[in-house]
Amino acid sequence: MDTCEFCNGEVKHQFVRARFHFKGQTIYIDNVPAWVCSKCGEQYFDAPVYKRLEEIARHRRRIKKTISFPLAEYDSKV
Ligand SMILES: [Zn+2]
Repeated sequence: MDTCEFCNGEVKHQFVRARFHFKGQTIYIDNVPAWVCSKCGEQYFDAPVYKRLEEIARHRRRIKKTISFPLAEYDSKV
């Protein structure tokens, strides 16, 4: 993927603090590999990454610190 499907901006691969919706809650996960639109900031995740985000969200004990929202660390290992 190299263009944003919303604004046609350039999409770049980078590590982000992902905002992830799970069971009615918003969870933020750091250091997630994502594709980010340089224009509108829309984040896209590869399918395996998205699955991993769901797993992390489900295992809420992985959340390490709360700033003003729950925060977990992205980890590719199970
Ligand atoms: Zn965009």
